[in-house]
Amino acid sequence: MTAPELRVGVSELRRRPGNRMQLDRSVPLGPLAISSSSIPEGEEVLLSATLEALSDGVTLSGSVQVPWQGECRRCLEMTSGVVTVEIAEIFKDRTEGELGEILPISNDSIDLGSVVHDAAILALPIAPLCKADCAGPIPEVFPVITPETAEADPIDPRWASLGELRFDSDPSE
Ligand SMILES: [Zn+2]
Repeated sequence: MTAPELRVGVSELRRRPGNRMQLDRSVPLGPLAISSSSIPEGEEVLLSATLEALSDGVTLSGSVQVPWQGECRRCLEMTSGVVTVEIAEIFKDRTEGELGEILPISNDSIDLGSVVHDAAILALPIAPLCKADCAGPIPEVFPVITPETAEADPIDPRWASLGELRFDSDPSE
């Protein structure tokens, strides 16, 4: 179901090719979730785009700002942010045959519901981080191993002492 704000009449715009129209809409899209993150209920997605009339259609270009929340993949704390994705679409009058990548204009209006929905789904982080250098829950004990750190710092002296501790307290000794 499309929010009414995302149904846009284009008959005025289409009177002359080259006409432009700025679109700024905030729409509540949540709750919308993928496995790792979601748009919280009540949060609004912000669409900011320009429509331009072609002789046989309308182009849309702009961006969608998506608020999200999710569990940081390293420290597992809840974190949140806003991500912006670019969008670009072409709408044309429905003609015979498949429109393919081109979206339909029907009853002199275009429906941005699926455009915004799909952009928001794509924008949601698959592996959220609370901050770019999040070190994890207890960095001294469980340092985050990435290919870079593993290569740059193969032997951490703290690991050596931890190894000794474990060895000394091993009940099988
Ligand atoms: Zn974190």
